[in-house]
Amino acid sequence: MRPLFLLVFCAAASAQARTTVAIDVGHFIEEPGATSARGRPELDFNRELAADIESAVRGRGLGTMLIGADGFMSQLARRAAAAADADFFLSVHHDSVQPHFLETWEHDRVERAFSDRYSGFSLFVSRKNAAVKRSLTCASAIGESLRHAGFSPSLYHADPIPGENKPFADRRNGVHYYDNLIVLKTARTPAVLLEAGVIVNRDEELKVQSEETRKRIAAAVAQGVERCLTRF
Ligand SMILES: [Zn+2]
Repeated sequence: MRPLFLLVFCAAASAQARTTVAIDVGHFIEEPGATSARGRPELDFNRELAADIESAVRGRGLGTMLIGADGFMSQLARRAAAAADADFFLSVHHDSVQPHFLETWEHDRVERAFSDRYSGFSLFVSRKNAAVKRSLTCASAIGESLRHAGFSPSLYHADPIPGENKPFADRRNGVHYYDNLIVLKTARTPAVLLEAGVIVNRDEELKVQSEETRKRIAAAVAQGVERCLTRF
């Protein structure tokens, strides 16, 4: 390679390496989030997917930091502080539904709560985040990338019922406003929360738990993140 080309190549590579994505594992051991239709805590789903997203983001040449992976980060504001030097904050979660939609079934001789009513991913941004415009651009890019990979937005968080009412910021790509979500409004960087799938849904729980689907979600998320971060 001629020196000039090498110089240009290195400059481009190092500019991209300086971009760091903070990937936050939603919840912690004492409060592990939702419980799946088969009794698995959301934290376990979040950990596995966050690790796959981290690999996929790194694979695209971006820097990463994983937050809350040990399960001990109980203070939400510390998550934002830990990511202060990052360029983007992505909180990884899996979804449930409002309690009145839950039914019961027996799995492995244990009665469990489930609801097959809804499925799909959703994305949230806060209008109280200092970089709301860029947060929304990134959320839309992630949603678009997930749709192109064959996943569908759940859409039910916009329903006009107690506990939901999260207005659409970008309906087509499954993005809602959720202004008071602490990790989003306290983040000092553009921030997006991903609900990757509905784990109280019996079919979707199995799908998002499979390595194949997880890797497809991770690859799509990484593609969306890279696209939005390099667009500026
Ligand atoms: Zn959660």
